[in-house]
Amino acid sequence: MLSQINIDSLVIVAYPDPVLRKKCVEVEAFDDDLARLAAKMCALMHEKKGVGLAAPQVGLALRLFVWNPTGEDDHDQVSVNPHLSDLTGQVEAEEGCLSLPDVNVRVKRASAARLSACNLRGEPYECVGEDLTARIWQHENDHLDGRLILDYQSPGEQIANRKYLKELTAKYKKRKPSMRKKPSTGRRGR
Ligand code: ZN
Repeated sequence: MLSQINIDSLVIVAYPDPVLRKKCVEVEAFDDDLARLAAKMCALMHEKKGVGLAAPQVGLALRLFVWNPTGEDDHDQVSVNPHLSDLTGQVEAEEGCLSLPDVNVRVKRASAARLSACNLRGEPYECVGEDLTARIWQHENDHLDGRLILDYQSPGEQIANRKYLKELTAKYKKRKPSMRKKPSTGRRGR
């Protein structure tokens, strides 16, 4: 799958791109392309000063995310086919998302979690994290199931964020003319 994609040209996709709502599939090939994809995702995360980035945010519905709570180059972590367990405690904090510029939502998350995942060589590892680290994992893991911070909005936040979502939708339609309604030709889209 990745061999057919120009990894260097990947960019962060924004709401309402439908890939952000897809249930992602497990990574099966732990090859050079996967390593190049992870490196590109780390570069995009740093460029946008993010603390995490999931594969669907670069348009690929794969179970993979990168994260870095400190922002320092040598702290980049890659989690392939991740699974969260031992979610304990609860804390509410404001979150943003690189695919939802200007949108902020207060989200209740577990304050601690255990992350089980594979590294780029396909070797399993586990770590325990709390606070920001646990929050990043839960946010990125949500992306792999097509869940966005929008799904946690309070009625007040829905009103506050409405204008940004409208702007993003307008931008997306402009960029992707295929989203505009066309008269049906009787052929099925691909
Ligand atoms: Zn996000």
